[in-house]
Amino acid sequence: MNDPARDDPDAPMFAADAFRLDRAEADLVASARRFGARVLAPRAAQHDRDATFPIENFRDMHEEGLLGICVPQSDGGLGASYRTYSLAAAELGRYCGATALSWNMHVSSTLWTGALADDLMMTVEERAEHNERRRLHYKRIVGDGAVYSQPFSEGGAAAAGAVAFGTEAKPVEGGFLVSGKKIFASLSGAADYYGVLCTERGEGEGASRRNTLYLAIPAGAAGVTVTGDWDPLGMRGTVSRTLLLADVFVPEDEMLMPRGVYFRAATSWPHMFLTLSPTYMGLAQAAYDFTVRYLRGELPGTPPVKRRMYPTKQIAAAEMRIMLEQTKALWFQAISEARANPAKSQVLRAYAAQFTVMENANALAAKAIRTCGGQAMLKNLSLERIYRDSRCGSLMLPWTAEICLDRIGRESLYEAGETDE
Ligand SMILES: Cc1cc2nc3c(=O)[nH]c(=O)nc-3n(C[C@H](O)[C@H](O)[C@H](O)COP(=O)(O)OP(=O)(O)OC[C@H]3O[C@@H](n4cnc5c(N)ncnc54)[C@H](O)[C@@H]3O)c2cc1C
Repeated sequence: MNDPARDDPDAPMFAADAFRLDRAEADLVASARRFGARVLAPRAAQHDRDATFPIENFRDMHEEGLLGICVPQSDGGLGASYRTYSLAAAELGRYCGATALSWNMHVSSTLWTGALADDLMMTVEERAEHNERRRLHYKRIVGDGAVYSQPFSEGGAAAAGAVAFGTEAKPVEGGFLVSGKKIFASLSGAADYYGVLCTERGEGEGASRRNTLYLAIPAGAAGVTVTGDWDPLGMRGTVSRTLLLADVFVPEDEMLMPRGVYFRAATSWPHMFLTLSPTYMGLAQAAYDFTVRYLRGELPGTPPVKRRMYPTKQIAAAEMRIMLEQTKALWFQAISEARANPAKSQVLRAYAAQFTVMENANALAAKAIRTCGGQAMLKNLSLERIYRDSRCGSLMLPWTAEICLDRIGRESLYEAGETDE
């Protein structure tokens, strides 16, 4: 029988009453959690072992409405806010990190063009053009189950925001000719559209970040190829191979944002880059939940051997709980204050939340392995996958753990424009 005083390992990560979620938010997050436990968890091990993309999860997400979680309700989606999406993604991350991370790439294409774009300054003409164009993408997603990805990284300084993207869009009659190379293109070979960031550059023009375009490139367009192999440490199901674009013609209607608006978003809505963290928040919770179940002798698939009576195990569980609560509290605050033109303290908190989630997810998984012991890291259990997947979080540009440290340090000590001269 269920003892209500006990911690249920499948209970919501952020209880509705404790975190003051309203009914609609709590219901949506709860249904994502049930979906993760029922649909994603049983398939996770095989996709991890074979490094294959879990396309059937995305088909099932379409049925569930989750592909359109951030599509406005007026366009047939669930209309989730930034925070509601983040909470739902954390719940999915508990059950399959690779699916949650790939889903983030897809959802970002709707969140950035949806709630986030609604919050940005646009002229009346830009707004009308944007609303018209995004309807096309939303119809494909909600109606046909189209999957979008988000290949930004190029192996240079562009994904960190330091220079203009090397992938270029040459304006031509009716659209653009796009050429370039994207590395770590999660969902490569599986997505229907690649949401590519590139630099618009006419004849004789210099490359500028202000001219960044965000374009949806159909996977089947002439000149698109996926290359290279994919055999990484973790997040194996994301299948993040290399995308090559050679003079791909992209019609103007495939612009996911009007000219200049991506640059505006990147500079005035910084929390847009925090959306990689929910997956890892979920992995942190999963490492803790595994440990409690295992030490209690209640982990399905393992003998009912209890290990909880040793004081060292109890101390480890306490330390893990404290680290998890600290991580959740900071992260919840950061995702709750995402908005246009946040205060400096809110931006620094977002960096701190990203750093904390990414580093602590892996620290918790490492501690879980030490505490539970050798049998707990065998490949028939989920912990070693959680450990490998969680290691990837700190590497994700543009807000890698190192870049967050750099910025927090510099911006804590210097105000904008200050130098030591
Ligand atoms: C599982 C997984 C899935 C991914 N999926 C996607 C995806 O779908 N789309 C996508 O675009 N990318 C994706 N990435 C790529 C990711 O965001 C990074 O671009 C990639 O990990 C960078 O690798 P690199 O070796 O080229 O890093 P480098 O650019 O060589 O950087 C190495 C480290 O140096 C530091 N660094 C880099 N630039 C700066 C700077 N300007 N200032 C200070 N420090 C800096 C950072 O800490 C960085 O971690 C994925 C990565 C992983 C691991």
